[in-house]
Amino acid sequence: MKINQSPVCDTCGKESRLEWKGSFGSTGAYLNTVGFIYKNAVLYTGENTPLSFCSSECQVKYYSEVLKIPEAKLKQVKGIMDDVRESIKKDIPKITEHLNQVSKVIKEIKERGINGKKQK
Ligand SMILES: [Zn+2]
Repeated sequence: MKINQSPVCDTCGKESRLEWKGSFGSTGAYLNTVGFIYKNAVLYTGENTPLSFCSSECQVKYYSEVLKIPEAKLKQVKGIMDDVRESIKKDIPKITEHLNQVSKVIKEIKERGINGKKQK
């Protein structure tokens, strides 16, 4: 993907016919709605590497032929990312609990002031 340009498939060059939306993230979010795949290969390249593909075949081809990432490495990273997603899901109730506590403290400060005295 190139900045300020309509994304094309990074493997075969097929045009997405999608307008640039101001950032890679925003453009990437829209890519999925036009049948494209938005990826960032930062885990493999060590730098911001936004990519767009017209199909999963083109994606696989790019990762193996351009980035030259061995199949075993792809599987390993996928496994790690699956674990990360799972632990985020598990911790959502805990995160929500902490946010509720923060919101309660803010509410108390609003009602009684920072020193515990009632606000006028
Ligand atoms: Zn393609």
